[in-house]
Order: sequence, then structure tokens, then C-alpha cells
Amino acid sequence: MFPADFAYVHARSLDEALDLLDEAHVAGQEAKLIAGGQSLLPMMKLRLAVPEVLIDIGGLKELRAAGWTAGLGGSFNVLLGALTTYRQLERNRFYSEGHPVDRAGQRGRTGVVPAMTDALAVLADPQVRARGTVGGAVAHGDPAADLPAVLLALGATVIIASRKGRHEETARWPERVHRPMRARSGARPADLPNVGRREVALDDFLQGIYATDLAEDEVITHVRISSPGARGSAYEKFPHPASHLPLAGVCAVLRLRDGRIDGAEVAVTGISPRPYRARETERMLVGAEPTTDSLAAAAAQVTRRPDGSEATLLGDQHASAPYRAHLAEVLARRALAKALARARVNLP
Ligand SMILES: Cc1cc2nc3c(=O)[nH]c(=O)nc-3n(C[C@H](O)[C@H](O)[C@H](O)COP(=O)(O)OP(=O)(O)OC[C@H]3O[C@@H](n4cnc5c(N)ncnc54)[C@H](O)[C@@H]3O)c2cc1C
Repeated sequence: MFPADFAYVHARSLDEALDLLDEAHVAGQEAKLIAGGQSLLPMMKLRLAVPEVLIDIGGLKELRAAGWTAGLGGSFNVLLGALTTYRQLERNRFYSEGHPVDRAGQRGRTGVVPAMTDALAVLADPQVRARGTVGGAVAHGDPAADLPAVLLALGATVIIASRKGRHEETARWPERVHRPMRARSGARPADLPNVGRREVALDDFLQGIYATDLAEDEVITHVRISSPGARGSAYEKFPHPASHLPLAGVCAVLRLRDGRIDGAEVAVTGISPRPYRARETERMLVGAEPTTDSLAAAAAQVTRRPDGSEATLLGDQHASAPYRAHLAEVLARRALAKALARARVNLP
């Protein structure tokens, strides 16, 4: 399969990428950014995307920075440049440090976000992980994607630049930056000049099947996570056997205090037009005693909204909607059990 003809431009700076987007917009041309190309190129070959201009942002050092700080009680802040690859995340010890030898989470200390390690271990193949980027995974708006589910459960925020900027907010770099991943030349959001900037919660950013809150003239520069803690976290997935994309996937984050669940975030992917937070499940977990029964009861509500209605479910040739819902419940039970075991290991 060959894509339709397109013009290719290599942007040398974020400024230039924004100018190129503006120029294409004014000329009435459909322009697309390309980062790792792992989703866009297949879409172009299938003619599901037919951009006239391809703007390559893969070389922009400004979008490669990544850093983190850890706070008290397991809390942490992370700032990921949009061009951070899956591979960079995999190699970063922030997520994997001290990951237990047995993957059931029964021994030793877990990493700061073991769910991230779980997700990367079952995400695509080494080639895709070497090229695929955080910004691309988020911007693509795939209803069945692994990383957005983990980022959703961590309450991530997307930082977006444009020439105009709908409104400006200053994105703060964690105050003490530990172990920046690789490219040390990357910029903090506040360091990017002449750029309008806005921030939007990932939960609001993801809007539907390949639909996001990203305008034609905008570029994702960073993804930020400010989490109260995720050492008790896990990601479970039922992959499509050919693509490895999740037919269903669930990320669970649990925090314990005085023998009860003090905090719970649960995100589901693959079964609905967009990855979503299972708010009813979360509501049932917070304050509950963590028992097999309480986790199973909460997992059974993973497709329910707090008002009792059912989330919109996807059904297609790969799996029917009821089958996907069943998978999500089973995976939610497993992810919660694993997150609980890890949270217990990590109790202060
Ligand atoms: C064989 C194969 C297997 C896969 N398996 C999985 C899997 O198991 N799980 C999974 O979750 N995913 C899987 N994927 C998909 C892949 O992980 C991601 O969708 C992909 O890596 C996205 O990042 P990218 O940098 O390659 O984006 P690109 O393909 O370059 O771009 C994707 C979209 O995002 C836009 N974009 C990219 N960067 C930005 C930015 N900074 N700002 C604004 N817009 C931007 C582009 O314009 C385009 O619309 C698989 C892909 C392949 C080819």
C-alpha cells in the first residue's frame, strides 16, 4: 500500500513548525505533524489520512526533555516532552526502579509507577517502541491505546502550543529535576518563546474515536503528571493477537491508609470511543476495606457511569460490545488485585 502524494517539510524548531502549520492553514492545505510515524504512516497507507503537507517534528530538541521529582508519601511530578519515546520511558528507572522480581507484586518494592512498566511490557514491539512518542500516542486519539489509559489514571495534563494560543498558563517544571531522560537540551514549557500555550486535562482532551481537543494550528509540547502516588498501580490488557492493540485494557491505581482504600483511579481503554475514567468504580473503592469482594464489586461497575447509565461501548468484527465489557470487568479485577498487592508492599 502506498500513501497519496504529499509534500514533506522538516521543521528545525517549534517556531518553524508553528509557522508551517499556519502557512498551510492559510493556503487551505491539510497539514499533519509527524513524530514517530507509527500511527500516521499506516493511516496514510490505508488512505484514512490524506495530508497534503507532512511537517516532521521528530528532530525538535525542545520537545525531548523529560524530568521528574518525587515528593513525600510517594507523590511525584513528571514532565514528559512530547517526543519522549516509549523506549525512553522503558529505560527510565523512575518507573521501573525496584520493580518486584515476581510480577504478581508479592515481594520487594515496586517502581514509582509499576503500571507504566506493565503497559510498556505489552505495548507493540521494540521497533514501534523505539519510534512511537508520548505526544503521538495522545494526539492520535485511538480508542484502543495503552499509554493514554495509564496517563488518564495518573491524572495527566496535556500542554499545547500554538502561534496564537487560546489562553496562556505557565507550565511549571518540577522544581528539582532528577535524572532528566537523555536529551538534556530539551526545553521547559516556559522556556519556549513566542508561543501561545494552554493546558488541558487529558480526560477533557480525549473526545472520541480519533477525536481530540487539538486544533489544526496546535502542537503538543509536553505531558505533565502531578500524582499523589502510584506505587500501588497495575495495568492489565487483553491484546488483539495481530495488532497487539488492547481489545480491552484497565489501569488501576490504589493508595491505602489505616487499612482502607484512601485513593483510587481506574482508567479503561479499548472498549469505548475513547479511554475513560471509571468513576463509579473509583467511587465504590474509596473508603472501602480492600477485600476480594469489595474489589470485585467495584470491578463489576467498570462500564457504569456514576448516574447508573452504561458507558458507550464499541463492538466490531474483532469483539462484540458485551464481550469487551466482560473483558474490562475481568481485567479490572486483576488490575485492582495487583495494584492492591503492590500498595501493601509499599506501605510506609
Ligand atoms: C505494528 C504496530 C503495533 C502497535 N501496537 C500498539 C499497542 O500494542 N498499543 C498501543 O497503544 N499502540 C500501538 N501502536 C500505535 C502506536 O503505539 C502509537 O499510536 C504511536 O506510536 C503514536 O506515536 P507516533 O510518534 O508514532 O505518532 P505519529 O504516527 O507520528 O502521529 C500520530 C498522530 O499524532 C499527531 N501528532 C504526533 N505528535 C504530535 C504532537 N507533538 N503534537 C500534535 N500532534 C501530534 C500526528 O499528526 C498524527 O495525527 C502500534 C503501532 C504499530 C505500527
